[in-house]
Amino acid sequence: MNPAAERPRIDEAIIRLLPKAEVHVHLEGAFELADLLELARESQVPLPGPAATLFDLSTHHAADASESNAGEAAAPESAREFTSVAGTDRRVSPAPGPEALADTPTGTGVGSGGLSAFLRFLDWQCGLVRTADQAATVAYRFAARQSASGIRYTDVIINPTHWSTWRGRTDELVAAFTSGFDAAERDGLCIVNMALSLLRTQTESEAVELVTWIAETHPPRVVALSIDGDERVSGRTGPRFAAAFTLAQAAGIRRTVHAGESSGADGVWDALHLLHAERIDHGVHAIDDPSLVDHLATTGISLGICPRSNLTLGVYPDLAHHPLRDLQARGVRITINTDDPGAIGTRLENEWSLVADAFGWGLLELTELAQTSIDVSFAPDTLKAELTAELAATVAALGSTRS
Ligand SMILES: [Zn+2]
Repeated sequence: MNPAAERPRIDEAIIRLLPKAEVHVHLEGAFELADLLELARESQVPLPGPAATLFDLSTHHAADASESNAGEAAAPESAREFTSVAGTDRRVSPAPGPEALADTPTGTGVGSGGLSAFLRFLDWQCGLVRTADQAATVAYRFAARQSASGIRYTDVIINPTHWSTWRGRTDELVAAFTSGFDAAERDGLCIVNMALSLLRTQTESEAVELVTWIAETHPPRVVALSIDGDERVSGRTGPRFAAAFTLAQAAGIRRTVHAGESSGADGVWDALHLLHAERIDHGVHAIDDPSLVDHLATTGISLGICPRSNLTLGVYPDLAHHPLRDLQARGVRITINTDDPGAIGTRLENEWSLVADAFGWGLLELTELAQTSIDVSFAPDTLKAELTAELAATVAALGSTRS
């Protein structure tokens, strides 16, 4: 591969033109600033900080951002439980460990209050969504946002435990999101299906209950089961969720698993052996086990890597230390995704551009990236074929204009 300096920079406008899929993005992390201000006004919930800098947690009012606002946004009885459960969520454990990150503000931005403050902010956001119309609007705007990046299909991860108002009413929440995604598709926007996610701190019976509900009712647009959570906080949980994922596999529900981010290579092995993962979300620590890297390369199980998320939350200090390029060089299929684009302040074209600049990728490499995103998505085969043909046509047209 040529050094970056020898390659023409691929502009974000070109990246947006490439038909592609996104497979690792959370609805909880995709709120735009205007969405949050509107929802807070509708729900009469005070902002935790100045409107203009709401995504910069260092500007938030010190104590009440995590306590009173989260509580006000949630149903009163469930607020405390919700906050404590969500506080052990899927987030990252960087080298010093999540406790150190939580206690070590990192300056400005969404990571400035550390891991715990970031989690409370995500919970606060989701707690603002209280009506079916609001949930449908969140879904519709997400699809529109994806479309603006040239994303034609998305498997969006939704963890019902975050949406405090809807506790015990997952069916209603999913139906509301579905109506929003349906409306978006009718308008020609990005096609979005859902990967409903378990939290690592949930019980085995809760997990089985969710999967049983999906298997028995076949909710429209629910195509996959996911799991996320901070494995340094929860410990090894693969065995606890094996029954749920085995049930999902038997029912034809696709599987994607957060692992190898807050866990090591052993977490990825558990995802493969116990949870029958078809994709791994993050998975970057697979690099520590050569036999695992070989296994991933042989089986074609892809890693949904999110570069800026890793940098923002301190998993790696910079891209020079990130294993993305090594993993790919050793034959592992990778996709580049946003994870929590609203909160992090990124878009997919920014992620792809960031990596292209760092590693000297040109149109050829980005086309391969787009093709992989389509191939490993849980989109219907007919849509995959359609997008593959459109990608080839787009690249051919770009090639003729660039030569
Ligand atoms: Zn994620």
